Amino acid sequence: MKGLLYYKSGDLRYSEEVPEPIVVNDNDVKIKIAYCGICGTDLHEYLEGPIFFPKPGAMDKISGFKLPLCPGHEMSGVVTEVGSKVTNVKPGDHVVVEASSHCSDRARYKETVSQDIPFCSACKAGKPNICKDLNFLGLGTGSGGFGQFVVYGADHVLKLPDFMPLDVSALCEPISVAWHAVELAKFKPGQTALVLGGGPIGLAAILALKGHKAGRIVVSEPALIRRQFAQKLGAEVFNPLDHKDAISDLKNLLPETEGFDASFDCSGVPVTFQTSIEALGPGGIAVNVAIWADKPIQYIPMDLTYQEKFATGSMGYVVKDFAEVIHAFEEGLIPVESARVLITGKVTPKETVQKGFKELIDHKEANVKILVTPNGEI
Ligand SMILES: [Zn+2]
Ligand SMILES: [Zn+2]
Repeated sequence: MKGLLYYKSGDLRYSEEVPEPIVVNDNDVKIKIAYCGICGTDLHEYLEGPIFFPKPGAMDKISGFKLPLCPGHEMSGVVTEVGSKVTNVKPGDHVVVEASSHCSDRARYKETVSQDIPFCSACKAGKPNICKDLNFLGLGTGSGGFGQFVVYGADHVLKLPDFMPLDVSALCEPISVAWHAVELAKFKPGQTALVLGGGPIGLAAILALKGHKAGRIVVSEPALIRRQFAQKLGAEVFNPLDHKDAISDLKNLLPETEGFDASFDCSGVPVTFQTSIEALGPGGIAVNVAIWADKPIQYIPMDLTYQEKFATGSMGYVVKDFAEVIHAFEEGLIPVESARVLITGKVTPKETVQKGFKELIDHKEANVKILVTPNGEI
């Protein structure tokens, strides 16, 4: 089939001979891909990988697969074939894929990976998103959405309501990343939120917060073009570079609660980490959604202790997050046309390296999501 193959950092190739995945298990679903978003993670794999992908010659811990493999994990498409025990979707259904892979997915790859590995503690506890061996379809576990077809377990496939366009549906994945973070903040309707950073996940966080009926959403972001995106999605914006004491000024936006109920660090630099804690009101919850560079930062434990604030991190998503995001679209809490603002380009597989990856690397701030269309526009 047509698609892309990842060999190593800097080596992503268009090919018309990407192996087409086939239905093997009785719970497999085969999907013709409509759209698949290019993620920051894909860019990291391209620039400095393999990170999630196995090292050359090594095997993926869940599937046993080796490079080269087709990337892409933010996908929507149409079901073309199902295994004999699949009941939740049927051929012709429009679907999205929750692309994570974890201990329970090893059972799908009996030919290539040992079936004797016990479940990790997180998977036993029902938290597969923090699995010891967490990976994703399209990041090493199997052929991903930058190819014409994917095959994955029915438990990872969610049917879309009729009104959902397939291009906007590909955004369910990044919105689910943010949705999981908002859930971790135990966010209640009417509460206030600070989003630090207006990149793809920061903007997705605005939609996830709207889905949770947030009271006020303030996005702190130095780049004008990203603040404009945030405004289009209905958030208040704040330019930290315009303020001598940005943290106090953010906190003072909410004098009645002495700060925000929750904060979401979607940037991952020392100043946003500090702001995410200090701009909270008493008992507030700071959630790190950014993937941090592995540099140590200064942290004062009493910043949490004095007002019993919480700081935690959010990792990926679970199927329930996807289901709730789709439901928020159904309820109109996330308007389809509002989400569409995040789509800044569509490219064919042949154009993906130049007009997708390189465009996102060279013009980071002007772009949010570029979608790959492996089968042309469906
Ligand atoms: Zn992603
Ligand atoms: Zn596990």
